[in-house]
Amino acid sequence: MELSQRVKNISPSSTLAITAKAKELKASGIDVIGLAAGEPDFNTPEPIIEAAFKAAKEGQTKYTATSGISELKAAIVQKMARDSHLTISPEEIIITTGAKHALYLTFQALLNPGDEVIIPSPYWVSYTEQVKLADGVPVIVEGLEENDFKVTVERIKEATTAKTKALILNSPSNPTGMIYTADELREIGQYCLKNDIVVVSDEIYEKLVYDGAKAESIVSVVPDLKNQSVIINGVSKSYAMTGWRIGYAVAEASFIKAMTNVASHSTSNPTSVAQYAALAAFNGSQEPVETMRQAFEDRLNQTYEKLVSIPGFKCIKPQGAFYLFPNAKWAAEMTGFTSVTAFVAALVEEAKIAMVPGEGFGSPDNVRLSYATSLDNLNKALERLNTFMENHIK
Ligand SMILES: *Cc1c(COP(=O)(O)O)cnc(C)c1O
Repeated sequence: MELSQRVKNISPSSTLAITAKAKELKASGIDVIGLAAGEPDFNTPEPIIEAAFKAAKEGQTKYTATSGISELKAAIVQKMARDSHLTISPEEIIITTGAKHALYLTFQALLNPGDEVIIPSPYWVSYTEQVKLADGVPVIVEGLEENDFKVTVERIKEATTAKTKALILNSPSNPTGMIYTADELREIGQYCLKNDIVVVSDEIYEKLVYDGAKAESIVSVVPDLKNQSVIINGVSKSYAMTGWRIGYAVAEASFIKAMTNVASHSTSNPTSVAQYAALAAFNGSQEPVETMRQAFEDRLNQTYEKLVSIPGFKCIKPQGAFYLFPNAKWAAEMTGFTSVTAFVAALVEEAKIAMVPGEGFGSPDNVRLSYATSLDNLNKALERLNTFMENHIK
């Protein structure tokens, strides 16, 4: 069968090749340490699981409203007031099948063919492909490593054209772990406001911040952006609920209506019992979130120094999320590889450590290591990496 042009235009997730390779080795009994995961290693907190079970028992097993149950929207109204100092109404919320689908619906409802979306690199792999699926044009603006991988307003200005429709901001960032300061957000937000650029703010790692850092929403910093922005968030990362598939978007009511219309012809509502689970996540004790955050911070602190003491690796210390994103260009060169991607492939084969090459995030000199795994695994992986370097440095 001949495939559509639309589908031919998107590339499969670059992270898949390495994950597949690691799985293959594991299946054949080889002990590969996976540092490629983009999800918390913890199980969902027990009370959340209980709430889903109870909802199912009580018959919450039917279709819900496409945009989600009103109790969950009410909980999000409260959460937005508490965490972001934003007053919103339930009509300004859609509950979606994960934050990923909230982003997908956003671009479907926002873009006309040829509309440009500014995407700072390094970026999360799905942004570019989702924009293309909506007939938009991704415009990559490089966040330089010497500027903590963050883009400046000058760079955004240079990339702006008459066709610029939106800017995607992801703070804390996957893959870099960097957080934009309030001053940086203010500058970028005011520029977008003046130039009619919609800000799509992906705040999924909001709760996973370290060393006293705070991740603010650009809409809290520039409140006038409220009707010119889409805030994306969800329960996957903060509550260790990736498999439940619950995310949400906050935007002006007419835009939410358009997103809901697209959802009504694709997924319909997100899973009913998962919505009740998310409700319990928001309304229950927030202690599990803090416990997991502390575990991530502890792992970060225990692995960061070890990583940067390995020859060839240079790394900015992340402020949030659960990834390290070192520059491994020297490490690859020192060991005779022509690219970081080839170096990472050799690491899987020989050192039995799976990491994600930075290529797919638009940053080919870097590599992403997830610390959403046990300290034991992390220590073993770094030892293997060190040994590999010692054996191969020319
Ligand atoms: C994990 C992730 C998402 C998607 O989360 P889901 O709610 O599981 O769909 C969105 N954005 C970024 C940057 C992520 O890392």
